[in-house]
Amino acid sequence: MSIKMLKFVKIGQQNPPKRAISNRKEDFNEIYKDFIQEKAEEQSSRCSQCGVPFCQIHCPLSNNIPDWLKLTAEGRLQEAYELAQSTNNMPEVCGRICPQDKLCEGNCVIEQSGHGTVTIGSVEKYITDNAWEQGWINPIKIKKEKDQSVGIIGAGPAGLAAAEQLRKLGYQITIYDRYDRSGGLLIYGIPNFKLEKFVVERRTKLLKESGIKFIQNFEVGKDCTLNQLREKHNAILIATGVYQAREIEIPGNNLENIFPAMEFLTASNRKGLGDKVELFDNGTLNTEGKDIVVIGGGDTAMDCVRTSVRQNAKSVKCLYRRDKKNMPGSAREVANAEEEGVEFVWLSSPKKFIGKNKVESLIVDKIKLGEPDDSGRRKPEVQKNSDFNLKADMVIKALGFDPEDLPKLFGCDELQVTRWGTIKTDFDTMETNIPGVFAAGDIIRGASLVVWGIKDGRDAAISIKKFLERSEFKKIKVA
Ligand SMILES: Cc1cc2nc3c(=O)[nH]c(=O)nc-3n(C[C@H](O)[C@H](O)[C@H](O)COP(=O)(O)OP(=O)(O)OC[C@H]3O[C@@H](n4cnc5c(N)ncnc54)[C@H](O)[C@@H]3O)c2cc1C
Ligand code: SF4
Repeated sequence: MSIKMLKFVKIGQQNPPKRAISNRKEDFNEIYKDFIQEKAEEQSSRCSQCGVPFCQIHCPLSNNIPDWLKLTAEGRLQEAYELAQSTNNMPEVCGRICPQDKLCEGNCVIEQSGHGTVTIGSVEKYITDNAWEQGWINPIKIKKEKDQSVGIIGAGPAGLAAAEQLRKLGYQITIYDRYDRSGGLLIYGIPNFKLEKFVVERRTKLLKESGIKFIQNFEVGKDCTLNQLREKHNAILIATGVYQAREIEIPGNNLENIFPAMEFLTASNRKGLGDKVELFDNGTLNTEGKDIVVIGGGDTAMDCVRTSVRQNAKSVKCLYRRDKKNMPGSAREVANAEEEGVEFVWLSSPKKFIGKNKVESLIVDKIKLGEPDDSGRRKPEVQKNSDFNLKADMVIKALGFDPEDLPKLFGCDELQVTRWGTIKTDFDTMETNIPGVFAAGDIIRGASLVVWGIKDGRDAAISIKKFLERSEFKKIKVA
């Protein structure tokens, strides 16, 4: 047996740190608060340096995981951080909220061999949080600012990553966002127990200190058209995300106390940020003491049920029309929710909301899974005469998001979109059909992940640079 194999067998016998504790409501940070250097080194040393870095292959950013694990194991934390940040604009964010079980950690060879994955995400979080503490993360200093400017619509992960990459190259950057705070879904969608808001705020502060201009409370489409913005800048990036909540068209949908997920989560996040939120304070958007039903099976639904638990709901049920195996959400999130006492009502679909003015209960059909449809997933079919009643003081609808009608909103009919309403871009350059207008993140993919938004933002920045260099070249030639 080779030395490498011996090492593998030895380290493979170690147990991963205990994540799960019964009835817990703690957040990622509470679980990992004792994830100190010693543990980061211990976890990193479990990496077998297997030579076929499946973790890296399955990381959308192709992070050089084996190498920064090796550096961490050797206690070379600054070098580990430098390497981690060279491919990722927000390693501490991804370390906290990437669905690692589906990406890097799920493909770790140690996990595959049944010995428990190296906890890559927690090491990535640790080395970056440590870098902040040590003062190794500083604003961008550019030698000479370029004359050209880029206007970015949307201050979510895609817009912020592109802004940082382009600012490093010396371009003038202005980000326009319709919210009062930057961060997109990082700030108003993802709950505080998964991603603390100060983590997002210190990133955006750093970008401001790097000379990137932020214009908040500015909605493109309302405060200016896309073409007016194009006149101000040499290139534009659309990174507006997807926000149109999918609806459920059943009787009783207009009763009080039935809310879309984002309304509920935004209120909770605003409260966490110290804002005055009347609808939360007067109990309307607060689940305390109530029987809650959340409809949906994705990560947003998991955030809603777990937020409800933290607000001390009397009971929390999650209604999903397929079974556990076919849930779109991260298995880890489902397990967390189950541990916290959330009851999953699998294979069930709401048929009617019941109540006088406010919702009081739901009539729910039982579902069986039929033959696979075009997408390969088994089709949910209603079982005849199977309906039952479920009590609810408040219902939260988490059925997914579609893009808004951007051509109409932006006053730009010529902007091409796909049949799903996402912006159509050139696969290689991320440029739309309008020259000099690029797009990135959820608005081209549909609802996706932060790590993909960062990847798109970085890729778009490369194409925007090429475009600006070409246009500068043309200008010189004409002159
Ligand atoms: C509840 C919830 C939980 C999630 N949890 C996770 C998770 O745990 N892990 C994970 O990886 N992903 C998660 N996601 C997905 C992730 O948040 C998104 O994929 C990611 O934020 C997309 O980034 P983006 O920059 O494309 O868009 P967004 O983050 O949506 O940012 C878009 C920005 O554009 C602004 N904007 C929109 N229209 C305009 C306009 N007309 N003018 C000006 N500004 C505009 C918005 O205000 C917003 O700030 C979650 C999503 C939700 C909804
Ligand atoms: S960015 Fe996400 S997928 Fe990539 S290494 Fe970090 S946690 Fe894993």
